[in-house]
Amino acid sequence: MNIKPSLLDYTQKELLTLIKPAFRVKQIYGWLYHQYAISYDDMKNIPKALKEELAQKYIVNPLTIINKEVSSDGTIKYLLQMQDGKTMEAVWLKMKDTQFDDNGEVIQEAKFTICVSTQVGCKIGCSFCLTAKGGFTRDLSAGEIVAQVVTLKRDNNHKHNRMINIVYMGMGEPLDNLDNLAHAIKIFKENEGLCISGKRQTVSTSGLSNKIDQLGKMDLGVHIAISLHAVDDKLRTELIPMNKTHNISSIIEAVKRFPIDTRKRVMFEYLVIKNKNDDILSAKKLIRLLSGIKAKVNLIYFNPYPGTTYDRPSKASMIAFQEYLVDHGLLCTIRDSKGIDISAACGQLKEKTENELC
Ligand code: SAH
Ligand code: SF4
Repeated sequence: MNIKPSLLDYTQKELLTLIKPAFRVKQIYGWLYHQYAISYDDMKNIPKALKEELAQKYIVNPLTIINKEVSSDGTIKYLLQMQDGKTMEAVWLKMKDTQFDDNGEVIQEAKFTICVSTQVGCKIGCSFCLTAKGGFTRDLSAGEIVAQVVTLKRDNNHKHNRMINIVYMGMGEPLDNLDNLAHAIKIFKENEGLCISGKRQTVSTSGLSNKIDQLGKMDLGVHIAISLHAVDDKLRTELIPMNKTHNISSIIEAVKRFPIDTRKRVMFEYLVIKNKNDDILSAKKLIRLLSGIKAKVNLIYFNPYPGTTYDRPSKASMIAFQEYLVDHGLLCTIRDSKGIDISAACGQLKEKTENELC
């Protein structure tokens, strides 16, 4: 199989070293990030000879949409295929509807977030996660990470200069693919590209504490979200086996060292599983654990899938847990389960499509 790098694998500066003359790079960059070109044929003002030369070495966009599920709340889940035939998911999330004034004029455009994958499968092996069940296949390249955003913006006719947020919460552990992740973050930030600042990008991690430090030292300006899920190491190791080597206190220490915009809070995600971690004693311990950190807790309903032994918590227990935290001064939201009517949790569309295809 002849797998080529894609033009989306490079920053503009890198492309300048690969493609001459320089003004063609600017034009190509516009085709990639403003027009969302998917083939060289799209690039109308680029000479045929240069396109033929480039096509020998690079493809334009490495992804093909092979399945798409649209939810009634505006969430769209995509199954995307790469050059080697492997698949992964990306999700288009509508965070806010368009706001109109009394005359029907738009006063604020709808707001969207794209949830991207960083690996095919995952090595971490969390017991509650469907992605973990298939094991690890491979890291995504920077271009494959970038292409998810380009492809979803293109499919939704989202203009290049309209703001978008990125969350690295799809399949895989972003910090286990740190080099490609960091490169993708830089490409997203390019002024003449998608121009998505670090502030608009949130890296979610299961807590590889040494890699949290490495990401912090890169000073990319991104936010981090910690998938905490448990307040004592015994339960956390049951849920996230690598907690044995990166335990809760090592994560908390790494978070304290991470460069955080002083106006912002570190997000702690807490997946709530019925009768496992939904009791008030856990809420109490959580408050103690996060004291001294400018934190925000996001409670997530466990999203069940066929074969899991865990259950979704009741709404009453979620609210009681939230109220306890809020009453004790901790900012806490409950993540609304977007796309609940489609294969919402991480890995579910991939699993479903592969079962149907087999
Ligand atoms: N590997 C990273 C990012 C991808 S997972 C991480 O673990 O943070 C993104 C989020 O989805 C994590 O918070 C994870 O705990 C959550 N998740 C995984 N399986 C889930 C399920 N079945 N129901 C609800 N959330 C789930
Ligand atoms: Fe990997 Fe995150 Fe799933 Fe854990 S929850 S297996 S770290 S993708």
